Amino acid sequence: MTVIEKLANNRRTLENRLQKLLARPVFLIEADVFALPCGCCGITINTRGLQVDDLEIFEEHIKEYLKEASEEMEIEPSFLFARLIPGTSEIASLNSRILCNRCYMDFSRGSGKSPRPDIYILELDRRE
Ligand SMILES: [Zn+2]
Repeated sequence: MTVIEKLANNRRTLENRLQKLLARPVFLIEADVFALPCGCCGITINTRGLQVDDLEIFEEHIKEYLKEASEEMEIEPSFLFARLIPGTSEIASLNSRILCNRCYMDFSRGSGKSPRPDIYILELDRRE
C-alpha cells in the first residue's frame, strides 16, 4: 500500500469511528501528512462538526483513535493535540506531531492542557 492509500484508509476509518462514537455526522474533510522546515513532522486531520464538548466527554476514546491512526501512518504518537478555534466551540483539526527539539521546548513549557488558546493537548510524552 502506498502512503496516500494508507492515508485515505486512515481518514475513512477515523471518520467512521468518530461518527459511531458520537452518533452524529462528524466529517474529516482533509487528512495531510506534513514535514516542516524546523524538523517537525506528522499528520493533520481537519474536522467539521467536532466540538470541544465532544473532546471533553470522549477524550479517552478520541485520543485512542488518534493514536491508532498515527501508528497506522508509522508516526510515533508522542504528541497528540486538537487545534481549536479560539472563541468558538469548534475543533479545527486533530494532529499527531513528532516535535523537533525547539518546538518541543515551546509546547512543553506549560503544564496544562492548553498552553495556547488554540491548542488542546491530548498527549505529550515528556522527554528527559
Ligand atoms: Zn518544529
